[in-house]
Amino acid sequence: MALPWYKEGLRFACTGCGKCCTGAPGVVWVSEEEISQIAQHLQVEVEKFRKRYVRVVEGRLSLKEYPVTWDCIFLKEGKKCSIYEVRPKQCRTYPWWASNLESPEAWKRAAAECEGIRSDGPLFTKEEIERECTSRSGCNDESKC
Ligand code: SF4
Repeated sequence: MALPWYKEGLRFACTGCGKCCTGAPGVVWVSEEEISQIAQHLQVEVEKFRKRYVRVVEGRLSLKEYPVTWDCIFLKEGKKCSIYEVRPKQCRTYPWWASNLESPEAWKRAAAECEGIRSDGPLFTKEEIERECTSRSGCNDESKC
């Protein structure tokens, strides 16, 4: 099998700017297990948590967004994630998503949105990238990585 275009690795260091948690309407997929973890972290009953923070999109569970800004419901003042320690897998594995790793152009597009994708960040090896990418909730397509 041919090696991927990022065989030498890619550089990334999250600055915590919060830009990936806002912007155009999107989804933040959460699993039942993640819902329990976040609810426990916030010391809220799971059912209350669901009503307050979770919506159903195309039959799957997603965290809610604020209606005007499209900020994630857990993005608080200063654009910081208020559940960072227990954030869902989708957030933890960014930017190592198959859609960003498809091609150098896709990675460049991601870099235009994310200031953490830059040439002076720490280097992630191909193996580290692929481990993160395939661990993403809902992604079972290793062939995309
Ligand atoms: S946009 Fe990039 S640098 Fe900013 S918080 Fe998201 S991952 Fe981190």
